[in-house]
Amino acid sequence: MSPGFERSIAAADASARSVALAVLRSGPVSRADLARRLGLSTASLTRLTRPMISSGLLVEQEPETGKRTGRPSKPLDIDAGQAHFLGIKITWDVIYTVVCDLKGTVISRASAAVPDTSPEVVIDQALAIVTDHRLAWPGIAGVGIGIGGTVEGHSLVRRVSALGWNRELDLAHRLAAAIELPVSVDNDVRALTQAELWFGEGRGCSSLVMITIGVGVGCALVIDDQLYEGRRGLAAKIDHWSLDPDGPQCPRGHRGCADQLLTSGRISERATQRLDRPVSFEECLRLAGVGDPAAGDIVQRAAAGLGLLVSRVADLIAPERILLTGDGIELAMLAEDRMRAAVAANRSLAADADDVRLLRSDFYVWARGAAAVAIRRHMLTELSVT
Ligand SMILES: [Zn+2]
Repeated sequence: MSPGFERSIAAADASARSVALAVLRSGPVSRADLARRLGLSTASLTRLTRPMISSGLLVEQEPETGKRTGRPSKPLDIDAGQAHFLGIKITWDVIYTVVCDLKGTVISRASAAVPDTSPEVVIDQALAIVTDHRLAWPGIAGVGIGIGGTVEGHSLVRRVSALGWNRELDLAHRLAAAIELPVSVDNDVRALTQAELWFGEGRGCSSLVMITIGVGVGCALVIDDQLYEGRRGLAAKIDHWSLDPDGPQCPRGHRGCADQLLTSGRISERATQRLDRPVSFEECLRLAGVGDPAAGDIVQRAAAGLGLLVSRVADLIAPERILLTGDGIELAMLAEDRMRAAVAANRSLAADADDVRLLRSDFYVWARGAAAVAIRRHMLTELSVT
């Protein structure tokens, strides 16, 4: 084949993939709607969708009944069962694994204790998990890994404090070479955001902010429909932004920074100090809920700090939607009014009211995020469309 011919095939593949992706993200969708979104003529759309309908990737749904005039149009949707993906969320003590279909729906879940967090042991364990799952799900088309550290280019892990990894590790290439499947690795908060952007609460948005609170404070940004990674994968590190001038000081010298004010460990420490007995994060929330003044003060100050944090990030990129989640989200739920008041009080005067949504999540939701990273790669580069 001549290079020119190969280029024209690649361009046709790219057009067809963009159609498949639009159907995945907005389906079931009418052809007219789809053509409009993609700026295509209906003739081009028909030409591009025909092979994907023949192969079963796209399915035509029954037309809406009740319309008596004209030829009924059959909405297009993607066949979610066309491929399966493994999502693996690695934490310091447990690896959570889900199998998802092409639409990010979880169809199987499993967990395994981590005996040792050294890279070689975790890699071997991840490989064993993939091997086991492929026996049960032979159609797995890709693997996604979510990890709470600095990750660049969907492969290179620079640092994972929770696991004690301080040396660079090209994790995706290491795993892919061993299992001969596409592997993508991402920071876990970005992975979670990818799942919400395509399949969840961020669907239909082209700009999005995700903030997670719990053991740590995380943030991910979607700008112009892309998850923003930043130089060396370091974008959106907001955990040491100062939020409360009268708050506790962190080891780096910040007064009332997000890490001090919002993480579950620091909240437990502060409650323990104030009440002069061991108090867990969960108990602090419970005490605040039943009117304990010291616990209530800790929770209210944290909620006000969270609201300020949200307003600052929102002022930077003016997102269509802001999602708050994480294992400490109950704190925001308990003091939601205070948090929302702080967002409103600190936002730019030009801003409209923000669409802030609070989501509960467990570790399998994070694993689904990892699967979404694999689905993204599949849709953008691996998918067969001819
Ligand atoms: Zn700090």
